[in-house]
Amino acid sequence: MSLSQHELQDLEQQLLARRATVLDELRRETRDEQGLLGLPSHRGESDRSVDFEMEAVDLAQSLRDAGELQDIDSALERLRDGSYGRCADCAEPIDPARLRAQPTALRCAACQLRFEHLHAPG
Ligand SMILES: [Zn+2]
Repeated sequence: MSLSQHELQDLEQQLLARRATVLDELRRETRDEQGLLGLPSHRGESDRSVDFEMEAVDLAQSLRDAGELQDIDSALERLRDGSYGRCADCAEPIDPARLRAQPTALRCAACQLRFEHLHAPG
């Protein structure tokens, strides 16, 4: 047994707290976008492209947050079904120190390195 019940509960608390933060960020970004759209457009064409770029950045950030939310939800699901803490690739227990640093970790360090190498751009 790599993780005690207490450690699992700690990690669940971390995940739930992080989930609330990410949801809060997503809600705030949605509000900002609406505020941006409500600005009077008195500055001309060039500014519109700046606004567009800012929206693209906001969108990228939202997508990152949404991706993290998915990671968190899937980690919480694994906590519930008992598969949490096992590597998705080799099924070996993930180092508890690694899980404490990154509660959404899906793979052990070795498999994650291999995964990132395989999926590295270029
Ligand atoms: Zn592994």
